[in-house]
Amino acid sequence: MPGPLIHLAATAPLSLGYKWLNLLSLFIASIFPDLIAVLISPVLIFVFGLRGEKLNWFFTFFDQSIAGGAIGAAILIGVILLLIKFCPRLSKPFKWKQNYSAKAITISVFLGVALHILLDKLM
Ligand SMILES: [Zn+2]
Repeated sequence: MPGPLIHLAATAPLSLGYKWLNLLSLFIASIFPDLIAVLISPVLIFVFGLRGEKLNWFFTFFDQSIAGGAIGAAILIGVILLLIKFCPRLSKPFKWKQNYSAKAITISVFLGVALHILLDKLM
């Protein structure tokens, strides 16, 4: 977990691919493995009563494993595509000067998450 700023900075050069990528999805995806850990932790702690090592296992799974990353990516893609379909107003930033086809969003999210996991493994 080298911090979100490093992840965002490492992802920045990919912005050059804005014709093929969805940049907002890409940047959200680049910090999503950390984000999902933060988002689900209250549920794990208060609903399932997880502590210590078990809790840690979940964080590491989503943050540093390929399987966890793929699951996180699938969730994020689903959320973004639903948002674009059903909430035109909220999804405006996803459509601003970038490719927002389902394909572009899928590729962008997988790229962002893959880069995150790679960086976390290197540091
Ligand atoms: Zn991380």
